[in-house]
Amino acid sequence: MFSNLPKSIFITEVGPRDGLQNEKTVLSTEHKIEFILMLQEAGLKSIEATSFVRRDKIPQMGDAKELFEGLMSLTQKPISYPCLVPNLKGLELAISAGVKEIALFTATSESFNKKNINASIDESFERMAKVVELAQENNLKIRGYISTVFGCPYEGETSVEKLIEVVRRLKDFGVYDISLGDTIGVGTPKQVQEIISKLKTNFELDLFSMHFHDTRGMALANILTSLENGIRKFDSSAGGLGGCPYAKGATGNVATEDIVYLCESLGIETGVDMKKLARASEFILTKVGRQSSSKYLTAYLGSLS
Ligand code: MG
Repeated sequence: MFSNLPKSIFITEVGPRDGLQNEKTVLSTEHKIEFILMLQEAGLKSIEATSFVRRDKIPQMGDAKELFEGLMSLTQKPISYPCLVPNLKGLELAISAGVKEIALFTATSESFNKKNINASIDESFERMAKVVELAQENNLKIRGYISTVFGCPYEGETSVEKLIEVVRRLKDFGVYDISLGDTIGVGTPKQVQEIISKLKTNFELDLFSMHFHDTRGMALANILTSLENGIRKFDSSAGGLGGCPYAKGATGNVATEDIVYLCESLGIETGVDMKKLARASEFILTKVGRQSSSKYLTAYLGSLS
């Protein structure tokens, strides 16, 4: 134990998109931009800013263009701001807003893709191919998301062979990073270790970020297992923003504060200033009107006041 840890990790902060999209309250564009700038000030180097989806489908993300343009006009030192793009229309809007990096998504489960995006896995790749073509013409960086890697709300266990096939196909698109999502938060350390060891025989582990949910309290155990097994990139959301659409009232994304605290305790650099991060989370949690799901953050903010 602790013999194979990295010196540093890289965090993709997903609070402003994955987090806020799963909160009931629809915030103002100004507050969302302020939140992103606070996260950036805390030292985060990649912040998923928004999703270019239809306003009537996801009202929380309905201001994607205004938000991105506003952010670009205010940011002093631009970092990475990947934006989710579901289709060509979304990509065209993203390009018009000045987006430089996009994220595409699919899943390892046919049923999940059918329900989530009304497409089979093959159809999702046909759609993405068109998006990738235009994105490459515009020199955009592309990130890939794979859902249901550790389990599916409709199919239960999902196949690692399918995962490897989906990773290969995304890699063929030239994605620089693939985020492996524990969509319903059912992953356990043993499973994490097994999946990583199979990935390792097929790909460089540097290709992957782990996207854990703390729905059943296993996120930190899964992160520690991932670190020990050669993974050094993680997705997380400030304050644990966002719920779990597949388990009412349950927790979703692991909190960025939890990862930072764990890494600090192990001597692993994160580049994040905890106090500034906690203030950013406090700011946004007040706006959405709820407490943090992170035990660490609750204790930390309590100790500051
Ligand atoms: Mg998530």
